Amino acid sequence: MRDLKGRFDLLSINTATFGYQTELDKTVDLLASHNIGGIAPWRREVEAFGVDKAARLIRDAGLEVTGYCRSSYFPAATKEERLAAVQDNIKALEDAATLGADCFVAVVGSITHENPSLEDVRQQTLESLIQLAGRARELQVPIALEPLHPMYVGDRSCLSSLSQAIEWCDIIDAEHPGSVGIAADVYHLWWDPDLDKQLTQAGSRLLAYHVSDWLVPTEDLLTDRGMMGDGVIQLPTIRNSVERAGYNGLIEVEIFSSKNWWKKSPAETLRTCMERFQTHV
Ligand code: ZN
Repeated sequence: MRDLKGRFDLLSINTATFGYQTELDKTVDLLASHNIGGIAPWRREVEAFGVDKAARLIRDAGLEVTGYCRSSYFPAATKEERLAAVQDNIKALEDAATLGADCFVAVVGSITHENPSLEDVRQQTLESLIQLAGRARELQVPIALEPLHPMYVGDRSCLSSLSQAIEWCDIIDAEHPGSVGIAADVYHLWWDPDLDKQLTQAGSRLLAYHVSDWLVPTEDLLTDRGMMGDGVIQLPTIRNSVERAGYNGLIEVEIFSSKNWWKKSPAETLRTCMERFQTHV
């Protein structure tokens, strides 16, 4: 397993970790001034800043874009709406290419009142991903399927486990080779008794590795993620599996924390991320 002491070149910060407090240029400056290796920006801030300008800024700062966050949801009640969702994601995929992103992160969506069948929604999502994958292959920006914790199956993601993501990769890849992989996020996957085996099986499909921690008790399903070391996830054990599976890319910190970290300054949050990265990841 890699020794992370002083290896901030292997650290990437998902900008959500700072709670969207600052403009993209300030975030980039902060990361660059601490010799951080990577950034994972969100569409809202990149689009607000201007994609070309953002790409230049990030490139000039020497930061790797470990992922572009993220797809809009694919399932919809009508065929036209589903097609519009694919079009929206093609636009974002093109922006990911402009940014030179390692991957385009897909959080796929799930059932709705109009569209309540989980089985149908999964099938539709897979079909939409196959459509998007054609463009991903042309642009050479792979889609990173991010399975979310099953607690989000009611609203955010009909893709809930690593085994399901591997299965979808196999299906999509058969149509468009090299167009798809997986973003493995400990927050979503740590509970799975089969995790080590599935990470091994995922192997070269692993395009991104996201870390945070699971707090007990968790007070909010979306915005109460913990800093690494503050929760119950055995992070070094999982990283060992991830690296044994062949992943040697950057490690991205992604913390949604409305009650705690989002109330602190980005500089303070980054300082803690850097400490914990060396000791608890
Ligand atoms: Zn994630």
